Amino acid sequence: MRTTVQMDKTCCTGCGACISVCPKQAIQMKMDDEGFYYPSVNENCIGCNRCENICPTGKLSSHAILSVLGGWNE
Ligand code: SF4
Ligand code: SF4
Repeated sequence: MRTTVQMDKTCCTGCGACISVCPKQAIQMKMDDEGFYYPSVNENCIGCNRCENICPTGKLSSHAILSVLGGWNE
């Protein structure tokens, strides 16, 4: 089973809390075309929901799914 993490990146403040709490080092910050950093999730994600629980925006959600979607919803 693969997992995916979804986030409206316009809501992300770049606080880094999700990166700090991830037990699989599955989150990295990337820069978009406008120079804003946003979190990107790789295939190491196990869907533990820790990032969702700690994100101060409340706009982050993780889901266990059966297909490979992988990555942040941009
Ligand atoms: S769901 Fe868990 S493993 Fe996946 S990115 Fe969030 S904290 Fe990391
Ligand atoms: S915890 Fe939420 S606001 Fe902070 S960097 Fe991660 S997604 Fe962005």
